[in-house]
Amino acid sequence: MTTLDNLFTPGLVAAQQPQWPGGVEGEAVKAAVATLSKLPPLVFAGECDNLKARIAQAQEGKAFWLQGGDCAETFVAATADSIRNRIKTILQMAAVLQYFASLPVIKVGRMAGQFAKPRSNNDETRDGVTLPAYRGDAVNDLAFTLEARTPNPERLVQVYNTSSATLNLVRAFTQGGFADLRQVHTWNKGFANDPRFGARYEEMANEISRALAFMESAGVDPESFKSVDFYSSHEALILEYERPLTRIDSRTNLPYDVSAHFLWIGERTRQMDGAHMDFAAKIQNPIGIKLGPKTTPEDALAMIAKLNPSNEPGRLTFITRMGAGAIREKLPPLLKAINDSGAKVLWVCDPMHGNTFETSTGYKTRRFDDVMDEVRGFFESHKAVGTHPGGVHIELTGDDVTECLGGGEQISEADLANRYESACDPRLNHTQSLELSFLVAEMLRDR
Ligand code: PEP
Ligand code: MN
Repeated sequence: MTTLDNLFTPGLVAAQQPQWPGGVEGEAVKAAVATLSKLPPLVFAGECDNLKARIAQAQEGKAFWLQGGDCAETFVAATADSIRNRIKTILQMAAVLQYFASLPVIKVGRMAGQFAKPRSNNDETRDGVTLPAYRGDAVNDLAFTLEARTPNPERLVQVYNTSSATLNLVRAFTQGGFADLRQVHTWNKGFANDPRFGARYEEMANEISRALAFMESAGVDPESFKSVDFYSSHEALILEYERPLTRIDSRTNLPYDVSAHFLWIGERTRQMDGAHMDFAAKIQNPIGIKLGPKTTPEDALAMIAKLNPSNEPGRLTFITRMGAGAIREKLPPLLKAINDSGAKVLWVCDPMHGNTFETSTGYKTRRFDDVMDEVRGFFESHKAVGTHPGGVHIELTGDDVTECLGGGEQISEADLANRYESACDPRLNHTQSLELSFLVAEMLRDR
């Protein structure tokens, strides 16, 4: 029988872990781990299997993956309004993609667990004062004081509680009628008057309503439009959070990380001999790996051998984040090598993380045009090699923030100061997200 005691290989190096006071073997971390290991699962193993089956369809080009949410969720932003706006944005984007491309869309939130961040530097210095870098609400607080920045393992339990509350609302919104396709008109509130998308979205909503009425008249049960599947995901970064939430599934006797449906390993923690890859190899969830521009075909093939030796459909997703300037050169050789190997992977484009820069005024930002250019390069690369452009992974929010430059609203560098709220990387706002979905829908339709 599989047990959790000897599941993970001991002694491996885990990159990007917090410097907990008292160390990882200290009493405070042990207490948090003990608490987490007794709490109920946030998701069910069977739901993870359902998602895997849907990813398997997307690997065949029969579905499209839409994953979106904050770079870093925060405890204070886990409000009903903020959660609802994010879900609504993802549902609107999914409706646009599904309608124009006639493909089912797999809806995945970067939410209900996305609370930990890898950082380029351990410390941050401001005006001569050096403190530990902010590593996400799972670890410390964004405020620049020693107390706030000192890692506190009790936060791991708060991550669980906040994720649980978020997921409860996600489930209520997506199962309770809010996501009913017949509501597609009411989701439009807030940008109905937007000169660029209001009319286009309204037109689409009218068409969808007519199609639904037709289906109803043909005998399709209208209740079947009422709920949608919505999955949770985050970067599996803090192993003292993910390991105690790994459980043996009673149906299959196999281990699943029940903190989210889908977990990914970041660009900075995917060392082949590291603890994160060992973790990913041992759990049964569908998993993602971020691939930056330095990834070679040999690297990618080695990851496949480690993470999916049996070539199980739906198990492995590669999330590429090459940068707009590099994708057309770097992606095709990977696509070709993996396609030639016969390995089943879902290719997802993260057009955010290779396109970040800092303005002279000190804001971390991204240009909407660079984001779109990377997505275009992604579609072009797949077309050239003959593989499926499987989805997109977007840092977004449902609120009208000013964090990324450009888009139809033409957000300028001077505008960034108006409403810059991200605790980490800049997100597309609601309108920019919708705009992206219309543009991606065109690419998908013409692929
Ligand atoms: C992220 O997704 O927020 C992230 C840190 O990405 P990457 O691992 O690709 O740098
Ligand atoms: Mn990010």
